[in-house]
Amino acid sequence: MALHSPISCPSCGVAIESVSAHIRSLLCPHCDNWVYLGNNGWAASGSFEHALDAPTFIQLGRSGKVEGRAFVVSGRTRLSYDRGYWDEWWLEFEDGQHQWLEEDDGRYRLHDAVADSIEIDNPQDARPGETLVVGGDNWFVTECIRAQVAGTEGALPAAVFPGEQVMCIDAIAQGQKYSIEASGHDVHITRSRVIAGDDFEWSS
Ligand SMILES: [Zn+2]
Repeated sequence: MALHSPISCPSCGVAIESVSAHIRSLLCPHCDNWVYLGNNGWAASGSFEHALDAPTFIQLGRSGKVEGRAFVVSGRTRLSYDRGYWDEWWLEFEDGQHQWLEEDDGRYRLHDAVADSIEIDNPQDARPGETLVVGGDNWFVTECIRAQVAGTEGALPAAVFPGEQVMCIDAIAQGQKYSIEASGHDVHITRSRVIAGDDFEWSS
């Protein structure tokens, strides 16, 4: 796995070792500040009081298998909105791949990243029941949620920080379900599919 040279924590200055090249935000193990890669390099967003409940069986650091592929749970972000919250877990697979696992009320969706360079016309204007032009195609918007990052854990491939606003759009195109998450720093597009809880094998 590709590694950065150690990151110097922007808060405490201590080197953070062994950070994978795709990671854009993480908890400093020395000072417990959440740090993220912004436009001007690594920045600290302060020590965040976590309000993350103990989940049923997914936990940071836990390893398992899904569809025969071994992974470790290496990060989590919790997104809250006016009707509740959901968790997104960052899975690092033994084969070098990474995927988001969305957990919403005991239901799971595994997300594959779609090229980030796709252009979206005004994601902030998306409305359920309308179309959104993505990469020149019409996507049918099924849901739009203005969410907020309510908590973070571990290490993540996106430069998120607690309290940040995120626009979450679900859409259907060519019979597949897509999700768009737009925040101040990035826009991420993923294609997802349902995974049954029984399809996970947990090894520890
Ligand atoms: Zn630190």
